[in-house]
Amino acid sequence: MRVELVTATADDTRAVGAAIAEVLRPGDAAALTGDLGAGKTTLVQGVARGLGSDAHVVSPTFTLVREYDARLRVHHVDVYRLDRVQEALDLALDEIAASGGVLLVEWGDAIEALLPADHLLVELTVADDDRRRIAVRGVGVSWRARWERLERVLEPWAVAA
Ligand code: ADP
Ligand code: MG
Repeated sequence: MRVELVTATADDTRAVGAAIAEVLRPGDAAALTGDLGAGKTTLVQGVARGLGSDAHVVSPTFTLVREYDARLRVHHVDVYRLDRVQEALDLALDEIAASGGVLLVEWGDAIEALLPADHLLVELTVADDDRRRIAVRGVGVSWRARWERLERVLEPWAVAA
């Protein structure tokens, strides 16, 4: 389960985040990978907005976990200190399990093994200037069940893989 997207602007990437938000369910976890400036936080802004939050979403560097009130409470982790990954994720995973929120982790590729078995992987790369290539991959049965729907909402930005 994989879809490739291209966005032309930061607002486009926010719109992709908002589209993903439409199919999120309580307890979901997603990892966002990509270099500094690739657009991970920008995409989280879109997810939070899509879930109805009007919070000002910034990179959670130095706070480990930021939370935004929304239809599904957003737990936003930026794994900038590898020695604290486990601590941050344990905390956030307990919280989303209890509260029915969602977890969005930046720089997640190194910690995929620590995520729930079912999760979403979003990989951002800078194509040229403002264009970003965004690969979205679903892992697990819960994503299989809603994959067609996710593909449908992401259709406006889809490109051939
Ligand atoms: P990261 O969290 O991956 O370090 P940010 O989302 O903080 O990245 O920063 C991405 C920067 O790139 C922002 O300044 C944003 O406005 C800019 N940008 C330009 N084009 C895009 C695009 N298509 N998608 C996302 N961000 C873009
Ligand atoms: Mg960031």
